Amino acid sequence: MNETGNLSMNSENFLPIIKKWLYTDKDIFLRELVSNACDAVTKLKKLMLMGEADHIPADETFFVRVVVNPKEKILQIVDNGIGMTHEEIKKYINQIAFSGAADFLAKYQEKTEGDQEIIGHFGLGFYSAFMVANKVEIDTLSYQPDAAAAKWSCADGIDYEMTDGTRTERGTTITLYVSEDGEEFLDESKLYETLQKYCAFMPVPIFVDVISEEDAPADEPSQDNTIHLSAEEATSLSKEELLEKVGKTEEESEAEAAPEEPKPLNDPFPLWLKQPKDCTEEEYKAFYHKVFFDLNDPLFWIHLNMDYPFRLKGILYFPKLAEQMDIVEGQIKLYSNQVYIADNIKEVVPEFLLLLKGVLDCPDMPLNVSRSALQNDGYVEKMNSYITKKVADKLNQLFKSDRTAYEGFWDDIGMFFKYGCMREESLYDKIKDALLFKTTDGVYETISEYLEKNKEKHENKIFFVSDENQQAQYIRMFREQGLEAAILTSPVDKPFVSFLEYKNPGVKVQRIDADIADTLQEKAETEDSEAKKQADAYAATQMETLFRRVVGNEQLTVKIEPLKAQHVSAVMLLSEESRRMLEMMEAYGNNDMYKAMFAQVKPEETLVLNKNNKLIQFLLASAGKDAPDADSDMICRQVYDLALMSHRSLTSEEMTAFIDRSSRILEKLAELEQ
Ligand code: ADP
Repeated sequence: MNETGNLSMNSENFLPIIKKWLYTDKDIFLRELVSNACDAVTKLKKLMLMGEADHIPADETFFVRVVVNPKEKILQIVDNGIGMTHEEIKKYINQIAFSGAADFLAKYQEKTEGDQEIIGHFGLGFYSAFMVANKVEIDTLSYQPDAAAAKWSCADGIDYEMTDGTRTERGTTITLYVSEDGEEFLDESKLYETLQKYCAFMPVPIFVDVISEEDAPADEPSQDNTIHLSAEEATSLSKEELLEKVGKTEEESEAEAAPEEPKPLNDPFPLWLKQPKDCTEEEYKAFYHKVFFDLNDPLFWIHLNMDYPFRLKGILYFPKLAEQMDIVEGQIKLYSNQVYIADNIKEVVPEFLLLLKGVLDCPDMPLNVSRSALQNDGYVEKMNSYITKKVADKLNQLFKSDRTAYEGFWDDIGMFFKYGCMREESLYDKIKDALLFKTTDGVYETISEYLEKNKEKHENKIFFVSDENQQAQYIRMFREQGLEAAILTSPVDKPFVSFLEYKNPGVKVQRIDADIADTLQEKAETEDSEAKKQADAYAATQMETLFRRVVGNEQLTVKIEPLKAQHVSAVMLLSEESRRMLEMMEAYGNNDMYKAMFAQVKPEETLVLNKNNKLIQFLLASAGKDAPDADSDMICRQVYDLALMSHRSLTSEEMTAFIDRSSRILEKLAELEQ
């Protein structure tokens, strides 16, 4: 039987179109062909289960072999699955597969008009072979008892020929005559690497056979999972014959589990498919190390296992951070029925998850649509809310079951959850009672614990530290007064503070140096007399005049207050609103639109002098004299700088002046000045 036909699309060749559009990711042909081979085996197994292929022994060993012959530039994908009849080739390859590929290319071509990127080029199928080959052959024998072997070949992506086949073993061999574009895949390590990328968890054992010029001698089996064979052997040998070739009977080789036993390169039963109750801690850790190349153990993990109303399996790992402030780079691998699709697809995975490491197998996800279409897909939405719920459940469970262990994790996972809450408000609503603050007292408290504990001292107010070194002075004052502040020093904390206020309308969140009124200031026992008030107001004006002159800032506001901490001469306060505005200016200062707006803004900085401090008392006394003390200007400036330093970093000029002055003060102390 001989039959020819033509596969053309808009009277253009297939080949150039495929090459043009898919040039960058041509390695997916291996995924497509190997997954077709696995499907062929899976289909046959199903028929056997249904009693529709009783002539096949129940203990049949199934496999997929990728055979590479670098010298002849041939790559073959061999399976012992369902096979195809002549009619099936016509139907599935000439019609269905072709229209599938044509449909795919049509979608792909739209990409130039928009950003219609199709995830992992999924759905290209059999014809992706032409990305790397200029001639492709199919040799196949159907599983049906009376089937005849069939052969299909297509040399240019346009004209195909079908003839009777010669294959005697059930299954299919796809032979690629590799073109220049595909030569890299003739290299054993490139081939292996690509198979590992896409096929590591496919459901049928996959072997690689390399046909080398000098075949490995039969009595010297190779040590790795690659067998070196001659060209005919590679395609015709059954597994039993293969084992014989490496000098083993099947029993022997299974009994020994010797290194000679060819091991498949893939794991056909990935851990995520097992029932969570059947998985051990060791298995979860080993899987993590192997898949993510991370030598550290993960902190904990979540096994997703859902069958209804949609199928979703996977494992999400919470990695340990090497450094507190690590920018976490996660990796979420997406699979569809054990076939790898791509990493970190933000359109389908809840964005906050991209900081984790994990695998997600979502066979029901529609992958042959563009990314933007997926984003608005109902399935994706349902999957996201399911995952969010699972993540929240796990966190709450850890929080409730072992608080000490949970606190031990917090430094590693806190940043992730804060980020997660901001991206996904529903996550915040579910886990808000398990979010912790580490405080200046060195303990971990939830938001409500903090508020409850400090209710008497400052109701509905949360104080925080954004830089422990810079704000050390305030922290000390806080501690001395038995107050505590939350330590929120990571980059995610800045927006998180605003987010907390937004979610807790009654609560004010303030940096430790924003306000001292109800925390650090001494409360007057009795109401001051009118005369005393006037005297105080006068002294404040005097001090303001002095500081404005010395500092050279006419806008400076100066107040005199009795602070509880005697040794502190002055503190600089910046209202929470002004500080946030300044931070915004820092972030967006170069943007023209904001520049004009910021030009109007005057940060409300207030220098609070401590009435209880001896230096301030000295300055006050000196200001009242006819001839002020010669040193008061210098003291005044130093007091100002000290307050400033606890508040922000000094500029280089300020710092130089500060060091000079400090030196002069020391000289004076040592009475070195003439
Ligand atoms: P898809 O796999 O998405 O259906 P393909 O273009 O990859 O599309 O394949 C088209 C069809 O060709 C498959 O559905 C299958 O019926 C048939 N086919 C491809 N490869 C094999 C194989 N190795 N064994 C049996 N049938 C195959």
